[in-house]
Amino acid sequence: MREDLQVFDNVLQLVGNTPLIQLNRITQDFKGQFFAKVEAFNPGHSTKDRIALYIIEEAERKGILKPGSTIIETTSGNTGFSIAMVSIIKGYECILAVSSKSSKDKIDMLRSMGAKVYVCPANVSADDPRSYYQVAKRMHDEIKGSVYINQYFNELNIEAHYKSTGPEIWKQTEGNITHLVACSGTGGTISGTAKFLKEQNPDIRILGIDAYGSVLKKYHETREFDSSEIYPYRIEGLGKNLIPTATDFESIDKFVKVTDEESAHTARQLAKTEGLFVGYTSGAALQGVKQLAEEGEFDENSKVVIIFPDHGSRYMSKVYSDDWMNEQGFFDSKHEKLANQVEF
Ligand code: PMP
Repeated sequence: MREDLQVFDNVLQLVGNTPLIQLNRITQDFKGQFFAKVEAFNPGHSTKDRIALYIIEEAERKGILKPGSTIIETTSGNTGFSIAMVSIIKGYECILAVSSKSSKDKIDMLRSMGAKVYVCPANVSADDPRSYYQVAKRMHDEIKGSVYINQYFNELNIEAHYKSTGPEIWKQTEGNITHLVACSGTGGTISGTAKFLKEQNPDIRILGIDAYGSVLKKYHETREFDSSEIYPYRIEGLGKNLIPTATDFESIDKFVKVTDEESAHTARQLAKTEGLFVGYTSGAALQGVKQLAEEGEFDENSKVVIIFPDHGSRYMSKVYSDDWMNEQGFFDSKHEKLANQVEF
């Protein structure tokens, strides 16, 4: 049990310093050792607490934010929750434009945290006036003195991870790390963490996880935006239909694409084998690790850190619902239903 009992002034003091937890069973057939950086231990239950707090405090330092100011963001849910949480503590209004792909749980949660939420269609192009980017931009123009976080195009997103996630992993592994595996959405997590780690040891391999239906992997390999790569997929927060400037493609050695189905099963497997109830993209990250292990990426000396971005409770009506899994056609002869499921 932990012994660092301590009283905190407010929840924001608990952002960051998340645990690194060894995976003992699910990776046992692979060469090397595997450790999960479990971001669900942040008070807002995801890695996005780090960027929300960092970007808002930078705006305060620069005098951009005033008491009662409005903070606007586009978000798949997690960033919104974190901004809402920081806004409550610091006394700001929070307006969020979210994709209709976000789970109902996430949208309800944002509203419970006092945010005003606008749900926008997921499968329209970024320059469509109905897209969540355009809705957020319009509100930013209309509300005087508002701040638009703009996580996909904000350098501070990278800096937040450069200053926290990277140093934490370096310290926790005592520099004993050969590979970093992280999902790429805005790219802030992987780029900022990679920048810090590569400065310590340029030989650390940085492996990005992308979704089928996203342009990131192809762009990384060709530096060309290929719209034929884009099609709808289920995983929220992973991959993109545009090229975010918060992604430093130079710092990433390789991208791996994962499917909705395999990522969902891997997330469920994580709960059952390691007792880690984590989100859909954590399943995606580990699914990527499985594929990399099969490709021979790791050897006996590998010490692999995998970032698990958020908590499983946000996906009760998706990955952790048998009905949803069935609707997607994700149950077949290969995959059993939850062992403890009660049939009615
Ligand atoms: N997983 C989840 C659940 C997310 O919400 C995000 C953020 N879009 C990511 C992974 C990817 O993190 P980043 O935006 O830093 O690339």
